[in-house]
Amino acid sequence: MGINDEIKTIKGIGTKKAIALEKLGIKTKEDLINYYPRDYEDRSNIKNINNINNGETALLKGKVTSISKTNNRNKRKKQILKLLIEDNTGSIEIVFFNANYLEKVLLKNYEYEFFGKVNILNGKKSMLHPDISKIKEEENLNILPVYALTKGITQKDLRKWQKIVISELNDLEEYLPYSIIERNRLCDIKYAIKNIHFPENKQKLKESKYRLIFDELFLLQLGLLSIRNKNKIDGKGICFSKKVEMQSFTNNLSYNLTKAQTRVIEEINKDMESQKIMNRLVQGDVGSGKTVIAEAAIYKAVKSGYQAVMMAPTEILARQHYENLQKDFDEYNISVGFLASSIKIKEKKEILNDLEMGKIDLLIGTHAIIQPYVKFFNLGLVITDEQHRFGVNQRNLLSDKGKNPDIIVMTATPIPRTLAIILYGDLDISLIDEMPPGRKEIITKEINSKGRKAAYGFLNTEIKKGRQVYVVAPLIDESDSINARSAVSIYEDLKNIFKEYKINLLHGAMKQSEKDTVMEQFNAGEINILVSTVVIEVGINVPNATIMVIENSERFGLSQLHQLRGRVGRGSYQSYCILVNQSNSDIAKKRAQIMTSTNDGFIIAEKDLELRGPGEFFGIKQHGVPELKIADLAKHIKILNTTKKEVNLLLEKDKFLIDENNKKIKEKIIMTFKNIDNINI
Ligand code: ADP
Ligand code: MG
Repeated sequence: MGINDEIKTIKGIGTKKAIALEKLGIKTKEDLINYYPRDYEDRSNIKNINNINNGETALLKGKVTSISKTNNRNKRKKQILKLLIEDNTGSIEIVFFNANYLEKVLLKNYEYEFFGKVNILNGKKSMLHPDISKIKEEENLNILPVYALTKGITQKDLRKWQKIVISELNDLEEYLPYSIIERNRLCDIKYAIKNIHFPENKQKLKESKYRLIFDELFLLQLGLLSIRNKNKIDGKGICFSKKVEMQSFTNNLSYNLTKAQTRVIEEINKDMESQKIMNRLVQGDVGSGKTVIAEAAIYKAVKSGYQAVMMAPTEILARQHYENLQKDFDEYNISVGFLASSIKIKEKKEILNDLEMGKIDLLIGTHAIIQPYVKFFNLGLVITDEQHRFGVNQRNLLSDKGKNPDIIVMTATPIPRTLAIILYGDLDISLIDEMPPGRKEIITKEINSKGRKAAYGFLNTEIKKGRQVYVVAPLIDESDSINARSAVSIYEDLKNIFKEYKINLLHGAMKQSEKDTVMEQFNAGEINILVSTVVIEVGINVPNATIMVIENSERFGLSQLHQLRGRVGRGSYQSYCILVNQSNSDIAKKRAQIMTSTNDGFIIAEKDLELRGPGEFFGIKQHGVPELKIADLAKHIKILNTTKKEVNLLLEKDKFLIDENNKKIKEKIIMTFKNIDNINI
């Protein structure tokens, strides 16, 4: 018998139960013991019977003062067993159905402990099917695990099976190197597993939790770094020409760079001239001016004789970059190509051919760029915009198209420090912590439906001044099941209210050419109000647009709200964001409160991580990062930093984990990351 045995080898688990368990991600015994409780029932606290409330789950201790049995013939011989229990303070009735066996176990005038849900009806207290201490299996245990369940699996089942597997834990091997256990005073893995499920006391539970959180964060970081190290073996990068100065490009801009932009450009320039492969994350809030930084780097790469590529997550954004960069590079004789899945075959062939021949210097596009048939002549620089939308593998696929090209990833959504450590552990980080001059803070207001009329009045004043307005809705069409306004119905409403204005609709289901036309018109100031779904979310830049109305703002996460708000305030005009919050839920209120009180993307990102948890944050799953079972990135920053140090220490000594001492940890990582394709540590 071994830890890798299929779950079916446990007595009592047949095909049906096995299928149900698989829904919980449990296929082997090892999966089972790594299925941690979501909570615990603390039975150390015995309550007085006169002190319990309706609906609470309580532990009671009392003497059986009467036992009665009735057989109910109507309902298929249902037998009802009723006990009256008394303690010093009061009495309660305990009820069991069809529990013949209990008659022999529960004796009058003896004391027992009962654990269950209290029901109080017209002052009469009762408890249905409680656990009874004297006969329960979990003897002497005060803290019991509570697992997340699925149909066909009960709490009792899981507790029983966990017990069985834990009792035969002998072949669960320690995988952490001894030095790490020692330095961090970790308990050993068997102890941790045993006590995470059936803690003997709170202290042991705490030690076990710490160990398992440590493991999870350690393995996560070690795994990600190992994958990247593997991809970086042939470590010599390109030295771009020192003779090509980025200033030749930036000095001709119509504005002066901010100090932050100048610093970041200098950091990039240094990396590009050196032989090391640049791997740099440029973090800057919306509107901080990242595009020009990308342009300076592209200028350097192309004028040094290499090709560059820039990938954006949506076609609208990619097209916007394409149009702007084509204009900006026109006088420098840099040829720019565009690629997206919507491009017609004939045109596509031409582009691909030019690219491979080296006739295109810069390719801009969506993820269509990572298709295998896209080949470059000599790719030297890879830029991804709004990086958090792309996975680890997509990033690697793109850089594989060149020979160790330099890499810049740009993100407009600030990433909390903790997540950056994990997602971009190997990246150097450049921070644009300054906005171009003349920008005014966006004023944000929260309203509900009642405030809409006043808000429309305000829109009217702004439009009269020549400004433009975005209205964003969570849905395209009205849907019966979801109580939210759709872009289409808002569009119809607004057309009635603002008859004299030009109003257009933009959503993801429209044809690309239609979307383009609408965006072009909005850009040119020909549309007063643009009603859209979140397709507008990233990157779009129309400085004359000053109002962002977000309908059903409660349906959006904080980072998304911040992104949407970032579509305005991009010029010198005072800009506004109006959140139409239709919900009274705590989280919706909290989000609105955060949005109205700060414009700082980093604060918002940290809050977002706290409120939503890392699972949903930027879709961690998309990154190919295994799900966290016990660690919480918002809470366990300290442990995260500790594990980061340990990971670095380990990799410094044994970069590719080939040392015999690290064999077990390597196997463990491969198991942990088994769901990532291309894993090849
Ligand atoms: P983001 O960081 O969100 O990608 P962009 O690069 O789109 O921001 O820049 C937003 C706007 O600010 C653009 O219109 C750009 O031309 C302008 N801009 C960038 N840097 C400066 C600067 N230093 N001074 C004035 N305007 C700037
Ligand atoms: Mg941008």
